This record gives sequence, structure tokens and C-alpha cells, in this order.
Amino acid sequence: MRDAGIRRDVAVAVTGDRIAAVGVYGELERAYPGATTIDCGGRVLAPGLVDSHTHAIFGRPRADEQEQRAAGADYLAIAARGGGIHASVRDLRTRSEAELADLARGRLLRLASYGTTTVEVKSGYGLTVEDEIKTLRVIARLAAELPLRLVPTWLGAHEIPLEHRATPGGRRAYIELLINEMIPQVAAARLAVFADVFCEPGVFTLEEARTILTAARAAGLALKLHADELVAGGGAELAVELGATSADHLATISPAGVAALASAQTVATLLPGTMLFLGKAAHAPARALVDAGAAVALATDFNPGTSPTPNLPLILTLGVSQLRLSSSEAIVAATVNGAAALGLAAETGQIAPGFSADLALFDIADVRELPYWYGDRRCQATWVRGKACHQFDLPVP
Ligand SMILES: [Zn+2]
Repeated sequence: MRDAGIRRDVAVAVTGDRIAAVGVYGELERAYPGATTIDCGGRVLAPGLVDSHTHAIFGRPRADEQEQRAAGADYLAIAARGGGIHASVRDLRTRSEAELADLARGRLLRLASYGTTTVEVKSGYGLTVEDEIKTLRVIARLAAELPLRLVPTWLGAHEIPLEHRATPGGRRAYIELLINEMIPQVAAARLAVFADVFCEPGVFTLEEARTILTAARAAGLALKLHADELVAGGGAELAVELGATSADHLATISPAGVAALASAQTVATLLPGTMLFLGKAAHAPARALVDAGAAVALATDFNPGTSPTPNLPLILTLGVSQLRLSSSEAIVAATVNGAAALGLAAETGQIAPGFSADLALFDIADVRELPYWYGDRRCQATWVRGKACHQFDLPVP
């Protein structure tokens, strides 16, 4: 992660949806006569950024909760007033697939406008078979329609829905519903690549997460886990034990959890924007993870409750200023390692021959300016699979 492999004075040749070559301009011009050329004018061309953790399908924003939090209300107090995840669940259940697609389309294009070309999108505000499938169908519809690359994750285990919390045996019944109905239907319809569980005290226990993820793995889904966000509960170790592709959050990960991730392929996905938005001083021990040899990714956690930012470069700023990563490490975390967190390490996240032509052009002269101009939108154009995705002022053929 220390070396992001920056090169100067080179050109990139794209054929169809693939990067064909990277080399000296004159040589590529001779090798590809008649090619359309785009002059990047001394600016930084990066791999399209990979946002490997979002909850982008939701209804109304929850700005009211931000004020309540500022006035001292904690998670439980906000939930008692009908807020939190359950508020988004009530809202999403009332909306049609088309309505949700309209809301999500604009939000995903905002993510793209900051340089992101691949976005993982979770369900998890439906919490019934019908509403979870509705959410995943919205993701599939937008994946077919938008130029962005979307990766769908089933998160039916985001919360125990209130109607199950209210009845004796309801909790067990919901987990049985997940395992016996929801996972088989989602897998059969190929609506998700990943299954994810929110493993925290009061939500799903370590044992419940193990049961749900084991069933999901048997159904052919790859695994992710919301782990060790509020309490070090052994979530990172469970993710490694199950061969999960990533363990996410990790603000309170234990030294044993760090060692487990360092010894495994499981990517440690850190979400510092969430901690910033919640006003928490604690951050995941990114330095310890990187220094131990874990693969660290950075993502927005874009969601209506705890991280409503579409700005992945801002998360890179937090990666440097709060998590003490170098610029190089932060950029690798949102490209190469973000792709690895989605099982796409050989497909996107690098500018190299054979990779998908997923590119982002930034109006900066030095790559270290990407996390430096914090909160700014320096992205001028993105391409996904060789096609223009988002552009500001660059004439793109
Ligand atoms: Zn999340």
C-alpha cells in the first residue's frame, strides 16, 4: 500500500471496455492509429474509485436525527422516538420499486461525480422477503441502466424488524425466515453477489451471524460482515473464520482481530466518515492494521442515518488526517483494495493492461492533492468499461 505506482508522462490506450496498454504517448499513438485522443493536460488520471460499502437505496433523508444527536440523544433515545434504521424501514416499505429507483439514481450519480466508478449497494431497509427483494430489484434495474458498476449485497440481517421484536419467539422466527425463505429466493434469482450481517450487541449476536452467513455461503453467496463497530465482539475473527471477502467498520477491533485480518485474505474496510458524522472521537486502528499486513479499504458507508456523504475523496482525507494513512495508502484503499473487497481485484481498481477501462480524471497536478483539497470536487470526468460515465467540463467524445 505504500506505493500507489504513480507514473508520469504516460498515456493509456483503451480498446472496447478494456485497458489495452499504458506507455509513452508517441509509441501508443503509433500502435493505435486513428484512435480518439483525450488530452488530460498534466492532470491526474486515476483508476475509477471503488466505494465498497454503501446503503444507497432508501427513502427520505434523516436530517432530524442529526439535530437530536447534537442535543445529546444517543442511538437508543433516537430509536425510542421512532428513528434509526426502523424509520428507514417504515419509509422504504411504503415506496414502489420505481420510486426507489428514481431516488437512488440521483444519489448514485452524485457518488459518481466525485470519481467513483464502482459502488457496492446493500439492501437492508426492507426486512421482509418482499421488501428486500424489491430493494435488490432496484439495484439490478439501476445496474442495467446506469453507466456505473454496481455490486449488490443482501443485508436482510440489518436489524430484527419491530414486528418480530414485539412477539415472543419473533427473533428466532425472523432468523429462520432469513435462512429458509429470504436467502434461497435471493440466491435463486441471482439478485445479490454478497450476503452481509449487522453483528453488534442488540442486533445480531456472533452466533446468529455465524448461522446466517453459513447459510448464505451454502447458497452460493460471498460474505461480508458489519463487525466491531461499537463493541469488540469478535466480528473480525468470525469474518476470517468464514472466509468473508471483507469485515467492515472495525472501530473497536481487538488486537486478536487485527492479527486475524493480517493473516487472511479478508479485507478490512474502514468507514471513518461514519465516526465523523456521529461525532465520535474513536477511529479504527488503520495504522495497526496496515502495519500488521492487513489489506485496508476505505468506503463512504453512504446511508441516510450515519453517513450521508457521496464524497469518497473526503473519506480519503479522513484516511490521512484521522487514520494516519499516507496519501498512497489512502488511494490504494479506495482503488485496488476497494476492488478486492468486492472480489473484483483482477477486474477494476488499477490502470493496467487487461483491466476494465474504469478511469477518473481529477483536476489536480499531484495525486496527493486528492485527499488534500478536502470536501472539494476535483473530478472532471469518469469512464466505466471504456464509456463516459460522468463529466463536468471535459469534452468527451
Ligand atoms: Zn453499513
